[in-house]
Amino acid sequence: MNIPLLDLKAQFQPLRAEILAAMQTVCDEQGFVLGPRVIAFEEAIGKYIGARYAIGCASGSDALLLSLMAMGVEQGDEVITVPFTFFATAGAISRLGAKPVFVDIQRDSFNFDPTQLERAITSHTKAIIPVHLFGQCADMAAINRIANARKIPVIEDACQAIGAGQGNKRAGVLGDTGCFSFFPSKNLGGFGDGGMITTNDQALADTLSMLRVHGSRVRYLHEAVGINSRLDALQAVVLHIKLKYLNQWAEGRRRNAATYDRLFKQAGLLERVSVPTTHAGNFHVYNQYTIRASRRDDLRSYLKDKGVGTEIYYPIPMHLQNCYKNLGHKKGSFPISEQAAEQVLSLPIYAELSDSHLTYVVDTIAEFYRR
Ligand SMILES: *Cc1c(COP(=O)(O)O)cnc(C)c1O
Repeated sequence: MNIPLLDLKAQFQPLRAEILAAMQTVCDEQGFVLGPRVIAFEEAIGKYIGARYAIGCASGSDALLLSLMAMGVEQGDEVITVPFTFFATAGAISRLGAKPVFVDIQRDSFNFDPTQLERAITSHTKAIIPVHLFGQCADMAAINRIANARKIPVIEDACQAIGAGQGNKRAGVLGDTGCFSFFPSKNLGGFGDGGMITTNDQALADTLSMLRVHGSRVRYLHEAVGINSRLDALQAVVLHIKLKYLNQWAEGRRRNAATYDRLFKQAGLLERVSVPTTHAGNFHVYNQYTIRASRRDDLRSYLKDKGVGTEIYYPIPMHLQNCYKNLGHKKGSFPISEQAAEQVLSLPIYAELSDSHLTYVVDTIAEFYRR
């Protein structure tokens, strides 16, 4: 068997004709940057998330950067986030000359540990960025309680969590802004880079729309130094079509996750492998199905030899990255993140997988531990 970590060709095949026709329309129209196709998609995303405003931009990384800019984050400010995330979360903070201040994660959910938030806050704290890692929301009620009491804005890094829920709300309206990525490997993936910011705050939405076009509301009048970060029409039409299938794909991922959970248990593997935990009230969309495994690196190469693609998200926490040496952290500063980095392994979870694929993956893992 050959089971890649992600198989976008399998997702594309049934949509091929529909997507190519839409792309052809854009080619005929020759309108490529922002414009009516992008507006229509922004409206669709806003409706899907339950957000009053949705602002397209060039990437998830830019969605984070623009959110921080809109909140006035600048040199000397501090922004609190987690070290166990994709680099973009911390990078956006640093790009503005602000300092990423880390809090560790919860062992079971891999998400922001709200019990550590209070002591990380200083008079310089300008924003908090919880990450909804792997498709499950961080504990936003607890984070918002602390943030709201101090009037510190909260930016959701929902790049891996489109369609995820907490209580009766979707990721993207659980903080002041929600940041989404349409990088091809995300649950809603485009044919290149793309991103979106959602918010219910009209003033923030106006500022974001201005910042993404070089700080201009009226052409050639610049009221702030913004950036060039726009969504294009080709991405918008592709994503707009894919959006119709997003819930169905999420259900497929959830079904596969439940099957993995059951298979790992049946195989008696729960001593060697721990399966993902979903917190009460969360709707997990499994952008990744991430286990913790003993002898993780050996397991990974064994799986590779047997045709199973896996990935380590993420092998080095932010506080131990070379570019953050200046922050003065060391090994042991954020032990839960460091332990996660040594143990995690993400398995194929996309909707198109069949039960026989999942069985093969778990059987192969069982075989590895029996040797
Ligand atoms: C993908 C991702 C981003 C960045 O998105 P891009 O569109 O690749 O710039 C940011 N944060 C997290 C957690 C991500 O997974």
